[in-house]
Amino acid sequence: MPISAARDQEPDIGARALSVLNHVFGLPGFRGAQEQIIRHVAEGGNCLVLMPTGGGKSMCYQLPSLLRDGCGVVVSPLIALMRDQVAGLVEAGVNAAVLNSTLSYEEANEVERRLLAGDLDLLYVAPERLLTPRCLNLLGQANIALFAIDEAHCVSQWGHDFRPEYIGLSALAERFPDVPRIALTATADAMTRKEIAERLSLTDAPQFVASFDRPNIRYEIVDKQNAVTQLKNVIAERHAGDAGVVYCLSRAKVEDVASALSDAGITALPYHAGLDAGVRARNQDRFLNEDGIVIVATIAFGMGIDKPDVRFVAHLDLPKSIEAYYQETGRAGRDGKPSTAWMAYGLSDIVQQRRMIDESTGSDAFKRVSIGKLDALVALAETVHCRRQRLLGYFGETRDTGSCGNCDNCLTPPKVRDGKVLAQKLLSCVYRTGQRFGAMHLIDVLVGRLTERVQQFNHDKLSVFGIGRELNEKQWRAVLRQLVAMGHLRADSEAFNALKLTDSARGVLKGETAVMLREQPEGARNRAVRGKSRRGELAPASGAHSAAANPALHAALRAWRSEVARERGVPAYVVLHDSTIDGIAAVRPGTLNELRGIAGIGDKKLEHYGDQLLTLVRTTDG
Ligand code: ADP
Ligand code: ZN
Repeated sequence: MPISAARDQEPDIGARALSVLNHVFGLPGFRGAQEQIIRHVAEGGNCLVLMPTGGGKSMCYQLPSLLRDGCGVVVSPLIALMRDQVAGLVEAGVNAAVLNSTLSYEEANEVERRLLAGDLDLLYVAPERLLTPRCLNLLGQANIALFAIDEAHCVSQWGHDFRPEYIGLSALAERFPDVPRIALTATADAMTRKEIAERLSLTDAPQFVASFDRPNIRYEIVDKQNAVTQLKNVIAERHAGDAGVVYCLSRAKVEDVASALSDAGITALPYHAGLDAGVRARNQDRFLNEDGIVIVATIAFGMGIDKPDVRFVAHLDLPKSIEAYYQETGRAGRDGKPSTAWMAYGLSDIVQQRRMIDESTGSDAFKRVSIGKLDALVALAETVHCRRQRLLGYFGETRDTGSCGNCDNCLTPPKVRDGKVLAQKLLSCVYRTGQRFGAMHLIDVLVGRLTERVQQFNHDKLSVFGIGRELNEKQWRAVLRQLVAMGHLRADSEAFNALKLTDSARGVLKGETAVMLREQPEGARNRAVRGKSRRGELAPASGAHSAAANPALHAALRAWRSEVARERGVPAYVVLHDSTIDGIAAVRPGTLNELRGIAGIGDKKLEHYGDQLLTLVRTTDG
């Protein structure tokens, strides 16, 4: 019998919700606004939910679906996500199913039959499937508890994940006016939020906006030297044996980085659209199901990946916007344990992204918005203040505390110096050489290097030749990058990335505009390496294997979980979350009742695994 039909007559929705949370999901209490949202939806209200990744959005529609009559229909764009969520729900004893293109005709028929028979609590449907006349008719005949539109930002044409099939979802409001709609997303600046509300007819519905802070994620943005070597150091020093995602812009780079990491003894697998579908699926499955795999991917990877124990996300190329950066880094540490978001960034990243925007076929308005978004991201990369504060500020959240204590700038405040004279030297050099040269040549002139090119153009005869000997090449690169980021210089993509002065450069040259520069440490050291010497300070106490309590039991539980996951063909975390394993190892329960008290153990898990787990605890020493 579906859980929704089995509900008792208890009048208070809050009490019923809590009871389902305890018994079905094995969780002791609600998080943040969950309770408020669940109550609102269970009572038939529409709403828009904005919560960061890992905030617990799924519960906001899963639980009301169980509380209300009928089946909750979840629109979700990615097959992997649907599959894993359904696997997790079925493990918890919920009657959940999925309708998508992976099903055979017979399988799909069986799901449809169960829906009409009132035998389903939750049904996950891909948007393009949902909008077929056949499916809409089917839903018209069924008893629907609610529609949940997950990843709702996909409806936004300005967003970074626009999916044309999402546009059609506006039909739901007209066709099913009495069924509550809950739209959820982890990405929403004000503009996207407004667009979601308009397109899904939610302009009158309340918006529940959770704090977007992810306190367990440590943000680090370093100056790019040799990104792969820097990344290898980060992994070796702080994330050996951890699961991670590495993002690169191109397929070729994905392949190169994956093989470089493999050569360094790291289990790294590539993932991009150019791979054979079978290989891609296998790599994704290994990442999900095995421990400690690093996946190197283009941005196509990750949406709908629910893996809770990703310990680091690394960017070797600049994402397109803060939304994209936040969503991608947000895939780290869904389980709330310490995790790292690390990015290496340099001048070429800004130039490359600008070029991609310039060369795109979008309208002028689209390009303008894209450039604004890129500028905001570059400002985040350049800031000498708290990164978290910047990120949250971008999403409209203000916090009064100056320092978060968990980003690179807060942990190791960068030195800032008055860069007026340096900026003037560089900008004059650009001017005197005719605004026709790129970074390399400009720096050669500044430090007085007599290269062939310098001689060819007689640039050793200019007054700016050798006026910048006080900095080395690397330091000048950093100055240059910051001037581009501040908008005083612009790389002209039509002239081989020659650097040109912008209007604002005049103010700097005249000494009217102040320029504060982040000081680049001397020599070849970079901040990734500096992390090493300050290890205690910068390294989070993470590690997927940080078995604080009872390491042997911890290891035995993990081995047991892998075995069960393999047998059942589900990801390990669907069997038990890391935090549940930590809990069992710490508590060492001796009875079913004690086991029941651990977060993540609901009625069904207790019934299925209780005895096995107790035996494991009893027979394993500390
Ligand atoms: P989102 O979809 O917002 O990224 P999920 O719904 O996947 O997040 O939830 C993230 C994690 O938080 C999951 O592991 C989930 O089990 C856990 N979680 C959700 N709600 C609660 C709660 N009330 N108490 C404890 N853990 C929770
Ligand atoms: Zn900070």
